[in-house]
Amino acid sequence: KSGFVAIVGRPNVGKSTLMNQVIGQKIAIMSDKPQTTRNKIHGVYTTDEVQIVFLDTPGIHKPNSKLGNYMVKAAESALNEVDAILYLTDVSESIGGGDRYIMEQLKKVKDTPVFLVLNKIDKIHPEQMLPVIEKFSKQMNFTEIVPVSALNGNNVNALLDTLSKYL
Ligand code: GDP
Ligand code: MG
Repeated sequence: KSGFVAIVGRPNVGKSTLMNQVIGQKIAIMSDKPQTTRNKIHGVYTTDEVQIVFLDTPGIHKPNSKLGNYMVKAAESALNEVDAILYLTDVSESIGGGDRYIMEQLKKVKDTPVFLVLNKIDKIHPEQMLPVIEKFSKQMNFTEIVPVSALNGNNVNALLDTLSKYL
């Protein structure tokens, strides 16, 4: 199995940390070279069973320039071209404008599975998890909701296993 997976999320939610955790397990490639004009490769995860190319989608971040419109359109089509989208959030913080903006774009995505990845579970008590899941679920439907700690690796393998089912 193989596929392309976009990682989206506002700054500081742990996208780079997650990549380091995933790619650190099975090193294949780690590159900042532009792959196309639309996507940047974060890294490639390779095992005997699966190869996953993780991509950064620049336009998913709130635009603040004249390029904004173009970027948003490019991001929209890029998100429709990948096999799955990981939407990373910081479970210890409340939903803000950055998250709402990203979810507005994710709602336009047609057939691509969208995972809600609740990162930084090491920062909260387990009973705080359900209210967060409920809040996000009110905003939109997610294909899967997976809590992880990118920092200590907790549940990251489960995330990769679940992801593989959609490739
Ligand atoms: P990015 O901007 O989305 O790429 O976020 P980074 O990967 O740079 O992480 C931002 C900050 O959050 C860094 O200080 C990380 O060490 C921290 N961080 C990332 N993942 C976790 C996590 O699972 N738990 C905790 N406690 N901190 C994390
Ligand atoms: Mg980063």
